[in-house]
Amino acid sequence: MTPAMTHHITHHLPEPMLADYAAGRLGHAFSVAVAAHVSLCDECRARLAAHEAAGGAVLETLPPEPVSDDLMARVMARLDDPAAAPPEPPAPSGIFPGPVMAALKGRPPRWRSLGMGIRQSLLHAGKDGSLRLLYIPPGRAVPDHGHEGRELTLVLQGAFHDETGHFGVGDIEVADASLEHTPVADEGTPCICLAATDAPLRFRALVPRLLQPIFRI
Ligand SMILES: [Zn+2]
Repeated sequence: MTPAMTHHITHHLPEPMLADYAAGRLGHAFSVAVAAHVSLCDECRARLAAHEAAGGAVLETLPPEPVSDDLMARVMARLDDPAAAPPEPPAPSGIFPGPVMAALKGRPPRWRSLGMGIRQSLLHAGKDGSLRLLYIPPGRAVPDHGHEGRELTLVLQGAFHDETGHFGVGDIEVADASLEHTPVADEGTPCICLAATDAPLRFRALVPRLLQPIFRI
């Protein structure tokens, strides 16, 4: 175990979300975030095992996932254009949990600047939501935002705090449409989070709102 993993996890997945995951009812973005938390958390792994034992038979009857949208593929291709890369050096990246490494398809994160030193690496964008890594410099705040749907934020490195509490490595925050929050990275270490949404975020500041269609955050 690395020192970063010794943080005691205090923010866990709610029971209905574990049940939905076990039954295959979550979209890709949420599934990766749930799997990544479970890979770090003994408590949720045990709770998930109970759901899987109870609902395993249901999985057999689920229809296949819908094919990805052609427009989304073209947006993704444009975001992958090296000419669109910001001038900043790439952010440091550690070893992420298995489900995150799988979502990265074995490649290092492709960081894009969101301004103010904040960067994101988009891993997935589809009708079922989006999945990205967020890099937040020490002491820096992510622009104030609310949610049309739900947002899962899993800390992979460092820590952040917002109006609802303090989140360290392995902690997962579940935010719904009623929460307008401003996550701020702790001093010391840059904070890297895995963030999954099942609907676009709405930012209150003007510039992030203009960037939203481009970055699909
Ligand atoms: Zn947990």
